[in-house]
Amino acid sequence: RAKSLGKNRYEVFDRGMHAQAMARLRLETDLRRALEREELRLLYQPLVSLHSGRIEGFEALLRWRHPERGDVPPLEFIPIAEETGLILPIGRWVIEQCCAQVARWSRDPGNARLTMAINLSPVQFAQPDLAEHLASTLNGCGVAPSRIRLELTEGVLLEDEEAAIRVLHQLREIGVGLCMDDFGTGYSSLGYLHRFPLDILKVDRSFVSRMDRDPRSGQLVHAIINMSHILGVRVVAEGVETSEQLEALREMGCDHVQGFLIAEPMGADRAEQLIAEGRTW
Ligand code: C2E
Ligand code: MG
Ligand code: MG
Ligand code: MG
Repeated sequence: RAKSLGKNRYEVFDRGMHAQAMARLRLETDLRRALEREELRLLYQPLVSLHSGRIEGFEALLRWRHPERGDVPPLEFIPIAEETGLILPIGRWVIEQCCAQVARWSRDPGNARLTMAINLSPVQFAQPDLAEHLASTLNGCGVAPSRIRLELTEGVLLEDEEAAIRVLHQLREIGVGLCMDDFGTGYSSLGYLHRFPLDILKVDRSFVSRMDRDPRSGQLVHAIINMSHILGVRVVAEGVETSEQLEALREMGCDHVQGFLIAEPMGADRAEQLIAEGRTW
């Protein structure tokens, strides 16, 4: 069929591809300078404990403000950072920023138990010095390891299962929490909870958003919560946007919620104000 459309068809396609490749290359070049030009920053989204109703911590989410393009979504620039290896210096920076932030918040004794969840790329996970860098950063900031939770995606576990288990144990030995992110997407199975030393499982937003419309999604989330609890794993529901979802999750015994219903990701100062307000959900 493409052939019957004639030669012009190919040219249009080629030019489109070319423009796309150029745009990507440009983004890659710009990303290389983003760190030193201070175009990256972290926003923090609160997690609420459904046991206490209070904010128990935050997830750090990376933002890139491009000088011309404005905000580039993480789903666009993180894959580029991963393919180019730039995620390594960026990921180290994220870890350092997060530990420093926890230390700053902790100057107020009321915040002495807030946790910080840090997203880790599979590329970072494969670095032999990850645990060492994390431990020395925690030490340098005077932050207790129990305040940090590392969020991993199943990509980490799929590649080399034995190597992954070794690293997970190393990290666990440091004392940080381990959290499986986006559970329910891809190939994730409850077998993970059994095979890997995880503390927390985050049920993907896609299940939570379907709960209102589709009773089976709700049943599935309920089953995931029950099974996790049997295995001693706590559950976070992500992407909670309605109070119906929140109440249903509370009823199911879900441990923590995160989502726009509570708050969107925000700057560190706003986060501090929000904690000080002492609101409960
Ligand atoms: P994630 O770790 O699953 O983070 C949750 C994403 O869902 C965030 O998108 C957050 O803004 C969004 N979100 C939270 N609550 C709601 C809600 O109620 N409704 C909707 N529609 N969305 C909600 P964001 O910030 O765009 O990040 C996207 C992904 O980029 C993250 O997914 C994570 O995989 C990755 N990412 C972000 N920061 C980092 C980082 O520092 N390092 C690495 N390696 N990846 C990161
Ligand atoms: Mg995450
Ligand atoms: Mg997630
Ligand atoms: Mg996600």
